[in-house]
Amino acid sequence: MTKIVNHWIGGKTAEGASGTYGPVTNPATGEVTTKVAFASVEEVDAAVAAAKEAFRTWGQSSLAQRTSILFRFRALLDAHRDEIAALITAEHGKVHSDALGEVARGLEIVDLACGITVQLKGELSTQVASRVDVASIRQPLGVVAGITPFNFPAMVPMWMFPLAIACGNTFVLKPSEKDPSAAVRLAELLAEAGLPEGVFNVVHGDKVAVDRLLEHPDVKAVSFVGSTPIARYIHTTASANGKRVQALGGAKNHMLVLPDADLDAAADAAVSAAYGSAGERCMAISAVVAVGAIGDELVEKIRERAEKIKIGPGDDPTSEMGPLITATHRDKVASYVAGAADEGAEVVLDGTGHTVDGFENGHWIGISLLDKVPTTAKAYQDEIFGPVLCVLRAETYEEALDIVNASPFGNGTAIFTRDGGAARRFQLEVEAGMVGVNVPIPVPVGYHSFGGWKDSLFGDHHIYGNDGTHFYTRGKVVTTRWPDPADAPSGVDLGFPRNH
Ligand code: NAD
Repeated sequence: MTKIVNHWIGGKTAEGASGTYGPVTNPATGEVTTKVAFASVEEVDAAVAAAKEAFRTWGQSSLAQRTSILFRFRALLDAHRDEIAALITAEHGKVHSDALGEVARGLEIVDLACGITVQLKGELSTQVASRVDVASIRQPLGVVAGITPFNFPAMVPMWMFPLAIACGNTFVLKPSEKDPSAAVRLAELLAEAGLPEGVFNVVHGDKVAVDRLLEHPDVKAVSFVGSTPIARYIHTTASANGKRVQALGGAKNHMLVLPDADLDAAADAAVSAAYGSAGERCMAISAVVAVGAIGDELVEKIRERAEKIKIGPGDDPTSEMGPLITATHRDKVASYVAGAADEGAEVVLDGTGHTVDGFENGHWIGISLLDKVPTTAKAYQDEIFGPVLCVLRAETYEEALDIVNASPFGNGTAIFTRDGGAARRFQLEVEAGMVGVNVPIPVPVGYHSFGGWKDSLFGDHHIYGNDGTHFYTRGKVVTTRWPDPADAPSGVDLGFPRNH
């Protein structure tokens, strides 16, 4: 029997009332296993109304109440890691160990939210003028929404809601319709942890649900993570509707390898970062820029390692790489490899047409490695989001840096070198939001913020870390004077107040 995934509104399951459902497929078998309810405008309105009602008390709740619930949620999440990872693998396809890693990185943000007491401490200046004190405090916004992508169905929602609710907001999540089960399980665990009903809601669906959240007058802020064209649309539309918005987009992450680098370590890093999660990561390395004469040796080391990767279903513990999310996406990825030679690239490994015995209908593609890729090639210019690594060649550091900085994307980047001075230059000169030095996927820890530059992020706040707390609160400054009976009597003064 096909499983049904419903909405979660006001602390309980809400069956889809619109009558519209979308299919959820197990990418390893190609089988539709689940149907997910798609929300109508009325169903989104019901979720926002539940969140608005809940905000009346949650927004006034004490920090101690909020953090005790978050600590209980953290314990439940920890206890259910395996189960959530299995849900992710069944709908996304990534291997179980990778899915466990995703849960662990989401848990880091719950850790941060458990310590919200420190982040919301506020500031106080006493005696700024005679008997006058000034306090800066931060308060929640109200109902906030999160719209998230398929590739991290548990972690990316957790980049958002733990901090949002810790700050006193209530939340409506619209997860990806391709792998919706993890979000609902998180909602159930939050309820089990004691979160009052309506504080966290999940509505599934497509553009209808998203557009309603973007225009709803009671939604005060929107966090989005997904592809660049949709991120741009979300930013423009939500901003035009007067909302605070952060919209994280796609990426083409470059890894520079200087001639003095440890080439074995660089090749290990390039292979792990390019092909992990079948390249369906916004922080995947999809372009290596080999500087100087090391190019041939580096490509050979990458090839040796890449062709050993074991591809298979994510729930087989021997698999290192799973299938792609849909057959359509797999075919699109394959088209970049098929066109690469005509665009001037050398195809070192061609992963198209890959099959896995016993899983003939899975969305499989093998490993592709393209060398000497010109910057004009579509395989270089587009975010492929699959297991395809482009290697570009540059004569000098400056030429390599120009390649990276000419990219419209600026999410993550990395440099591999033994030269501290070159690494330092790169940190300062590269146009990207997250930089790794001998670290290929520099995803910041929870207490630093995550975010790209250029077409990889629209808005001025990165996600989580201090930026997250800032995004989910607004500032208020209170100036207080308690006069002393001994003070001179007050009088009318039409001059602009001056401190003395
Ligand atoms: P997507 O943009 O297709 O979808 C993201 C969300 O937007 C989903 O919830 C989807 O239902 C919704 N959506 C899709 N089309 C829409 C439309 N026309 N109008 C309104 N809403 C719409 O992204 P995806 O394919 O799910 O995820 C992969 C993309 O996400 C990649 O580009 C990847 O780089 C990016 N991503 C970025 C980051 C980051 O931190 N920058 C992290 C993860 C993923």
